[in-house]
Amino acid sequence: MSKTIAAISTPRAAGGISVVRISGDQAIAVAERIFFPISGKKLSQQVGYTAAFGDICEGDEQIDQGVALLFRAPKSYTGEDVVEISCHGGLLVTEKVLRAILREGASPAGPGEFTKRAFLNGKLTLTQAEAVVDLINAESDKGLRAAQCALKGALYQKIKKVLNDLLSVTGHIAAYIDYPDEDIDDIQMHEIKNVCKACASSLQELLDSFDRGKIIREGVETVIVGRPNVGKSTLMNLLSGCQKSIVTDIPGTTRDVVEESVNIGGVVLRLADTAGVRETQDIIEKVGVERTFERLQTADLVLAVFDSSTPLSDLDYTLLDRIKGMPTIAVINKTDLEKKIDKKYLYNNFKHIVEISAITETGLEELNQKILEVLRLNEISISGAMLANERQYHCVLQAEKLLQEALESIRMGFTMDAVDICVEGAISNLLELTGEKVTDAVVNEVFSHFCVGK
Ligand code: GDP
Repeated sequence: MSKTIAAISTPRAAGGISVVRISGDQAIAVAERIFFPISGKKLSQQVGYTAAFGDICEGDEQIDQGVALLFRAPKSYTGEDVVEISCHGGLLVTEKVLRAILREGASPAGPGEFTKRAFLNGKLTLTQAEAVVDLINAESDKGLRAAQCALKGALYQKIKKVLNDLLSVTGHIAAYIDYPDEDIDDIQMHEIKNVCKACASSLQELLDSFDRGKIIREGVETVIVGRPNVGKSTLMNLLSGCQKSIVTDIPGTTRDVVEESVNIGGVVLRLADTAGVRETQDIIEKVGVERTFERLQTADLVLAVFDSSTPLSDLDYTLLDRIKGMPTIAVINKTDLEKKIDKKYLYNNFKHIVEISAITETGLEELNQKILEVLRLNEISISGAMLANERQYHCVLQAEKLLQEALESIRMGFTMDAVDICVEGAISNLLELTGEKVTDAVVNEVFSHFCVGK
């Protein structure tokens, strides 16, 4: 850990300013050999949380002028001495500044190595470190807020409470195991059972909200389906506000899947406008139609479009059959035209229906509201604790299962050792979640998803 590391922390693109970050025991010494404050006061003479303006040089050559921000351990992002040098945001200039720093003895930082050091130095829990990635990758307001809550420690606090309760249980059990002659009384047994039950239900709550949390972070896989010419592409263009799908009145124009991301009510919808559902001889279109059905299998939401100006056709009925049981909103389009569709049939077959005219842009707000309602996104509390990824989900799932086993052992009247093993196992999984007891392999895997410089 004594190795001093450096990396460019801003994107590899031309911009106003770039930041090169150095962290480690030698950070200030290294920075001092390439950065010369105009004031004449050396960086090593500066206190933490101060900035200096100066020349950035490599040997005798001046590369740029910039600002050095100094943080002294432990009061820095990584918990080590850190210097952040801001220079002009040119690609070459920034590369040269980094090169000069590396030449003075720093090593190139690996992906997420600054944040990894923050974790290893106790500045962040593992779940908070993971929230940093989610914060950077957030594409919607809700996703951003969820990441901010995790970064503030919402999940950690919830897990910590469960952990403390379970540790008190193992304390009771240990006392009993140490003095086996004394019978564990009913009150204690009842207490142990209640705590395990409460902890299991707390964990179950987290597991239940995982899918909706995932939708908030990663967006909703949404598929727009319907027979040709019902207005799928027009709807897609309306939702995304641009002409990405080709709109024509020749049936079968959308030959493959066209994708677009839109933000509705603070949630990202990943929209796919699929080829119209119809019997087709055209090979290219056939592939498109097959993809439509493939996409349907993994969709979080289906927008099934019908044309209100024509009666329902065999293809509409085929589609109805295919999407049975999926989270679907039936969109009755072209309400500006004379109605010929059997609306009653649709109302009998779909729980969620919206009537719109994509061309006159009516009914869009109702559709937006319906989308949030169907996905139950209005109900989810973003400020609460949420699981952010599969790793966290797996740890909680294992812990919950073990608590159920502990409860079963109590019910079956097994010895307290058996109960203890289950509760200890649950604790171990939760400590892995927070990163308090975790293998290097898990830590390395978590930080491998970060970018270099973070
Ligand atoms: P797709 O094959 O399902 O993607 O259908 P398109 O979006 O390409 O639309 C087919 C035709 O229907 C085009 O001529 C559109 O302008 C027209 N259309 C789409 N939505 C409406 C609507 O709400 N009202 C009317 N009158 N025409 C529409």
